[in-house]
Amino acid sequence: MKPKLRKRLQSEGLRCTHPRRCILSALEHGPKTHAELLKETQLDRVTVYRNLIALQRAGIVYRVYLPGHDPVYVLCEAEVPTHAHFFCQKCRKGICLPPDTVHVAAPWATYTERIFLLGECMGCRQDIGN
Ligand SMILES: [Zn+2]
Ligand SMILES: [Zn+2]
Repeated sequence: MKPKLRKRLQSEGLRCTHPRRCILSALEHGPKTHAELLKETQLDRVTVYRNLIALQRAGIVYRVYLPGHDPVYVLCEAEVPTHAHFFCQKCRKGICLPPDTVHVAAPWATYTERIFLLGECMGCRQDIGN
């Protein structure tokens, strides 16, 4: 697990426990479903579930719902508090977009947080031509 993540847990008031280290290390390699996390971390169902809730509350992990699939848990790697998340449906990659990439224009909103977008990333688009 990256030292950056350890600091982030601390600043969110979460202790760096063994289950949290296991879950975050697994998510560093890519988004995972609850079932995939169980398998990879060898932790029990309730422990994984409880820790995912704590990590989501702290904004370190977010959940993606895909139609017809189990929800996927994605690691938020950016430390800036307000930024949008983009998730590629094709390669299941989560991307933290730089702040101010996505705006909701007035008069609809003056402030937004936790914007989430679903689509296809540039990497996947380039594959089509090959
Ligand atoms: Zn993020
Ligand atoms: Zn992609």
